[in-house]
Amino acid sequence: MSRHFDAIIIGTGQAGPALAARLAAAGMTVAIIERHKFGGTCVNTGCIPTKTLVASAYAAHAARRGAEYGFAVNGEVRVDMKRVKARKDEVSGGSNKGVEEWLRGLTNCTVIQGHARFQTSHTVVVNDEVLQADKVFINVGGRASVPAMPGIQDVPFLTNSSMMDVDFLPEHLVIVGGSYIGLEFGQMYRRFGSEVTIVEMGSRLIGREDEDISEGVRQILEAEGIQIRLNAKCISFAKRDGRIAVGTECNEGGASEVLGTHVLLAVGRTPNTNDLGLDRAGVATDERGYIVVDDQLQTNVPGIWALGDCNGRGAFTHTSYNDYEIVADNLMNGDHRRVSDRIQTYALYTDPPLGRCGMTDAEIRKSGRAALVAKHPMSRVGRAVEKGETQGFIKISVDAETKHILGAAILGTGGDEVVHVLLDVMYARAPYTVVQRAMHIHPTVAEFLPTVLSNVEPVS
Ligand SMILES: Cc1cc2nc3c(=O)[nH]c(=O)nc-3n(C[C@H](O)[C@H](O)[C@H](O)COP(=O)(O)OP(=O)(O)OC[C@H]3O[C@@H](n4cnc5c(N)ncnc54)[C@H](O)[C@@H]3O)c2cc1C
Repeated sequence: MSRHFDAIIIGTGQAGPALAARLAAAGMTVAIIERHKFGGTCVNTGCIPTKTLVASAYAAHAARRGAEYGFAVNGEVRVDMKRVKARKDEVSGGSNKGVEEWLRGLTNCTVIQGHARFQTSHTVVVNDEVLQADKVFINVGGRASVPAMPGIQDVPFLTNSSMMDVDFLPEHLVIVGGSYIGLEFGQMYRRFGSEVTIVEMGSRLIGREDEDISEGVRQILEAEGIQIRLNAKCISFAKRDGRIAVGTECNEGGASEVLGTHVLLAVGRTPNTNDLGLDRAGVATDERGYIVVDDQLQTNVPGIWALGDCNGRGAFTHTSYNDYEIVADNLMNGDHRRVSDRIQTYALYTDPPLGRCGMTDAEIRKSGRAALVAKHPMSRVGRAVEKGETQGFIKISVDAETKHILGAAILGTGGDEVVHVLLDVMYARAPYTVVQRAMHIHPTVAEFLPTVLSNVEPVS
């Protein structure tokens, strides 16, 4: 016996719940299945808890800088990790509860807890129950990758998930991976009071970014006392005198080791597609396990879609939510929305943050377009000076012929918000001169965008 639904949704990440609500509101019967925590990565082990922790770290850092702003704190600023975690748990737990209550309250929607696996292309088994539907939506997300690095199984290590249980201050946290997740944890734990070393295989941090951005971020982190080991081509692990030795070079030798009390692995993500029965459904994946989808997020099997991180077309909450909008609008409104219509954008939540949209310098060079670029240090942005947060710069590239904005990076206070000014002009397909001639509010970081854009010059 199987239960029939109009739609089955596997996973309650950033696309599934909104899709369930939209389909159910249209009168379709929907089953949504979650094997672990409602809300998925962003809500429980990703964006929401980490940004809550980043806020605690920012407050501690600001308190330590009190003298610069004209106030004194009686005694040393010490962080109570149990209270930091409790605050994080309250914010993250509230979202998790909100998603569950929302789903359980939906008319036409059945919430099932358990691990879902395909039995055939349109039947799914969960808790020994067989569910059947014409439409199946996969929103299973991903998890921290644990590559087979020498010694990794011999030492205890943390991932972004187990970091959520940490309610103590690691004496020396060694973070393997100098990209977005590693850098956010690195700065926050340094500000909580840990010694922090970041070990990165590549020759620079956040290797996908422009070199000046990698360098700017490195300077910001090193100024706070974070140790950075680049070019760690051969990373290995061993227990040593109650600590964990992280080897960073291919030649053996004590000098190339970092001795820490705790290790966090932040070396990439793996899609949760290996235990989903995709072979029985006939759904194709690529060599890294990502589900292959077309521009409208349909898999190779008619009636099965894949949304969010598991399709390899984005790795952010906003890309997953946008996947939901594309699928829902195309299905329900007869729209023709496509993944390729969206413009790359994201933030790195170090302090100051990096807001990014459009192409990197390397992507612009590869596209062969004639570009003009303008760069402006945050030390010459009034609002940043007033706030005492002058690290970083604004960089904007435009097309010399069409005058369209090609890409922007705002590494500086408010960068994650300000970048939207440029992003929306890109969506409007308007020339950069629209922003150049706009009157913005004083004093803001955004008020400098017209000035910056008045100084675009050919790329040297
Ligand atoms: C530390 C960290 C910080 C991040 N910070 C940001 C940020 O600041 N901004 C941002 O945009 N993005 C951030 N991200 C990325 C963001 O969290 C993800 O891109 C986002 O959660 C989208 O995920 P998703 O919708 O693909 O699925 P997920 O949120 O991963 O959810 C998938 C769900 O499916 C469930 N599931 C999996 N397999 C099955 C199965 N077989 N049966 C039933 N259920 C199943 C899982 O339990 C999970 O609940 C961060 C990620 C990490 C790790």
